[in-house]
Amino acid sequence: MKSLTLTKEQLQKMISHVDLHAPFEACGLLAGLNSKVESVLGVTNQAQSAVRYVMDPIGQLKAFEWIESNGLDLIGIFHSHPAGPETVSPTDIAEAAYEVVYVILARVDGTWCARSFWIEDGAVSEVDLQII
Ligand SMILES: [Zn+2]
Repeated sequence: MKSLTLTKEQLQKMISHVDLHAPFEACGLLAGLNSKVESVLGVTNQAQSAVRYVMDPIGQLKAFEWIESNGLDLIGIFHSHPAGPETVSPTDIAEAAYEVVYVILARVDGTWCARSFWIEDGAVSEVDLQII
């Protein structure tokens, strides 16, 4: 999967979620089919930190159950970098445990921007983010 498609509304839902929790990082899951997002699921950042995130395990489990019961797949994981950078950090690369697209929402000069990445065996490549 080298592209990820989502609607403007879904992007806005991610931005609203991470903006609400800034300056702490915020995170969540993207459920969908193939490379098309169907639902944005915010999950609590248990780390309550401005520089890292740890998904609340109960919230993550509930989201996984919701995704499965709705016949969808986990296709993406998003989290914010309220103070930048726009790319994945060394920690993000080291902790990437799923074969999904990683979306970074970075706040640059007060504006949130989104970029997406594929992380495999420590190698990072940018994924085309298609907003429809
Ligand atoms: Zn990060």
